[in-house]
Amino acid sequence: MNKKIAVIPGDGIGVEVVKEAIKVLDAVGEKFGHTFSYEYLLAGGCAIDATGKPLPEETLEKAKQADSVLLGAVGGPKWDNIPGIRPEQALLGLRGGLGLYANLRPAVMYKELASACPLKSEITGDGIDIMIVRELTGGIYFGESGRSEDGNSAYDTESYSKKEIERLLIQAFEIAMKRNKHVTVVDKANILETSRMWREVTRDIMPKYPEVKVDYLYVDNASMQLVRNPLQFDVIATSNIFGDILSDEASQITGSIGMLPSASLGEGTFGMYEPVHGSAPDIAGKNIANPLATILSVAMMLRYSFAMKDEADCIENAVQKALSDGLRTGDIAGGKDALGTKEMGDAVVARL
Ligand code: NAD
Repeated sequence: MNKKIAVIPGDGIGVEVVKEAIKVLDAVGEKFGHTFSYEYLLAGGCAIDATGKPLPEETLEKAKQADSVLLGAVGGPKWDNIPGIRPEQALLGLRGGLGLYANLRPAVMYKELASACPLKSEITGDGIDIMIVRELTGGIYFGESGRSEDGNSAYDTESYSKKEIERLLIQAFEIAMKRNKHVTVVDKANILETSRMWREVTRDIMPKYPEVKVDYLYVDNASMQLVRNPLQFDVIATSNIFGDILSDEASQITGSIGMLPSASLGEGTFGMYEPVHGSAPDIAGKNIANPLATILSVAMMLRYSFAMKDEADCIENAVQKALSDGLRTGDIAGGKDALGTKEMGDAVVARL
């Protein structure tokens, strides 16, 4: 297969970790007989330097023409004090401009990194593997908001259309079909009318996925269950604000921010893939950043945008093998000898 990938390394460690992920993609392509072609594009601080804008039109246009997008990270102190302009505006511009409405954040605890997990081993069992599917372009973050005339009251509105809920839930059910066929819809249906509509739409969709087990949890209970009994979850489907909070909570059970990949999906198979972490200016340019979050992000790209399951498994297994062979970058080393960014990339390639 031939796939065109728009590559936006961005700033700081974004550049370093993307390089390793491309190395892994090339090696997988060679192993499985695919060709990946890359178009490198500017966004973030480097784009401000080159064009005066965090997201040049050309970047958005070319990203739209690609089969998927790989993003490193944007931002840094150099661009923190420019009036009216921030590198992070590129992220919102890309998500909105590319119509990415479903955000996928896996929370995986590798057995090898169990010591970095704040939960007891009785709770984490053989390892946690949860996929949070968060609605990304609707709800209270995009609803009507404002202040009263006297300035003494303020409001934000949670609003969802059935269409917005339905397309998010379809993504969640499709993903569950590729995993353990279990969707937990997280809401606040005892209070919120929008949540009651999420349940209604869920019930409408369920007959199309008879193999998928569905349950519902109120968000307050879900936040407790994530640390009390995380093994009960497979896919969590939820609104923008609840997903924002729960995915950060879930990320903490995995050990390091350097291990967390993410995907944002739109219509069809198009998606943007990026590590959860930022540009980490404190460690940029030193070859010490953990590239695994970005390498795991390209595994997600293969799985969700290109339907290359074996290829995605191959990358995830290689990462697992590198960890079980005791290889660690500084953030997960816990005092042991640490590998550099490039060396960890090489180690994954060697284990594909
Ligand atoms: P950050 O994620 O960049 O860094 C937080 C801490 O985690 C730092 O100590 C950093 O060294 C460490 N870290 C992050 N990724 C790591 C990795 N792969 N390996 C090892 N250690 C890692 O968050 P921050 O410091 O709040 O933000 C720095 C810049 O990044 C800011 O300009 C911020 O706006 C931007 N940012 C961008 C994105 C994005 O592009 N998606 C996301 C978050 C923050």
